[in-house]
Amino acid sequence: MSAPRDIVRRMDIAPLRTVVSGAVLAIEDEGWDAARASHAGLGSPEVIVRVASIDDVSEAVRFIAASKRVAVVRAGGHSAWCTLDDGVLIDLTALDAVEVVDDPEGGALVRIGGGARWGDVARVLAKHGLGISSGDTASVGVGGLTLGGGIGWMVRAWGLAVDQLVGAQLVTAEGEVVEVSETSHPDLFWAIRGGGGNFGIVTRFDFHAHDLPGVVFATLGVSGDSRPVLGALRDLLADAPRALTVSFMDVPAMDPSAPAGATITACWIGEDEGELRGVLAPLLTLEGVSEIDLGARAYPDILMDAPMPDPEQPLPGFVGGNTLVETLDDGFIDGLASFRESTEASVIFLRSLGGAFGDVPQDATPFPARGATWFAMAGGFDIPGLVDDAERARLQSAWGALEAHGAGVYGNFTTTTDPAFAARMFPPQTMARLAAIKAQWDPRNLFARNHNVAPE
Ligand SMILES: Cc1cc2nc3c(=O)[nH]c(=O)nc-3n(C[C@H](O)[C@H](O)[C@H](O)COP(=O)(O)OP(=O)(O)OC[C@H]3O[C@@H](n4cnc5c(N)ncnc54)[C@H](O)[C@@H]3O)c2cc1C
Repeated sequence: MSAPRDIVRRMDIAPLRTVVSGAVLAIEDEGWDAARASHAGLGSPEVIVRVASIDDVSEAVRFIAASKRVAVVRAGGHSAWCTLDDGVLIDLTALDAVEVVDDPEGGALVRIGGGARWGDVARVLAKHGLGISSGDTASVGVGGLTLGGGIGWMVRAWGLAVDQLVGAQLVTAEGEVVEVSETSHPDLFWAIRGGGGNFGIVTRFDFHAHDLPGVVFATLGVSGDSRPVLGALRDLLADAPRALTVSFMDVPAMDPSAPAGATITACWIGEDEGELRGVLAPLLTLEGVSEIDLGARAYPDILMDAPMPDPEQPLPGFVGGNTLVETLDDGFIDGLASFRESTEASVIFLRSLGGAFGDVPQDATPFPARGATWFAMAGGFDIPGLVDDAERARLQSAWGALEAHGAGVYGNFTTTTDPAFAARMFPPQTMARLAAIKAQWDPRNLFARNHNVAPE
């Protein structure tokens, strides 16, 4: 994908430094290593532009176009795209303003800079008694999560992050600034609600925010065979109030603070602990299920921390994948549990969908499989020395059988940078529409470091 460093013509960045107010860093500059580090690891771009304004974004894009390079765009820095060894990295993290204003349609709008992180957003919203269904982790970027869809803690009540998006400001591949919404460039607005960073750099997201009176959060421990518990969880969610969203995770020991084990986490929109305990009662009577924690929590506190990993100790690879499941039947549950039992160094994960997620018509956004009621993920850790080719092949085959049951793949939860992967994420009709919009707005594929939609 990238040209070896010694044959790449060295870029003259002096002109860029004269037009950009933020820092422009080359490999010999102080601060280079810190600037290229992200949550996903270390990348080696040719140049890093730490933009300080929307004008900076436009200038950087024009410079990249004139230099015939590709843009590597970073917001929260949690995707593998930030670790590639080419391109000009546009670091958006200084564009992190979060502003709450009245929504002309009623309620509140929140305008969020393209480089903000969800933890910062939650803290501002909490002061106003508001919330957005975002992700589960504070350091994840609003940019990457939203452009890919965004499955959050209130997905059954309010849908995906993109379902709450009402507009955005975007810098195009020409360096022009455009406003997009249902009435302004509606095709482009459609494309960015799940089509990733293919179409431009979003410098501002406008979300409709919801009243959030409070959150009750619970963690239940699960020991023994998870199959009957997952069956009961599925049955419970089939007609549970939309205020409830749950996830199930069964993991090996990650470090001394995170022991191995299976847990159900439940998020309830409301203030009454008794209500959540009542809703979860059918689970709490099951053998092997125990209440670890249940209580009212501040909205920002339900988001997890994800500290920056040590660049010298990269995380192991992951052999597996994810799928959007329409029917969580007993066969699928058995397959997931068997996957986990087959090797200690594996993880399985489920998150409930349905509710407001399923109210959105399939063609209203590029996001696949609106009929899904669960999101499922499973994989084995590719630990050097422990996993050989035969084990890798076994894990791939076991995952393949599970994925065959699903109705689509969620790109944000993949770590691959395989350029062909987008074809697995989007059904052909959706892909054709995305490719036509890409051809109109980015025919040279300047924004290629993402699940890439090739211009038609
Ligand atoms: C610990 C962890 C927890 C997670 N939890 C969730 C979760 O609960 N729900 C969920 O749905 N996903 C979750 N994810 C997946 C997450 O949505 C993706 O990893 C996402 O790509 C991260 O976005 P980012 O901005 O942090 O990453 P980045 O690497 O900065 O960006 C990801 C992609 O988006 C593009 N991009 C980012 N911002 C912009 C912008 N403003 N304009 C144009 N392009 C842009 C980048 O070029 C890149 O291609 C999680 C991931 C991790 C690592």
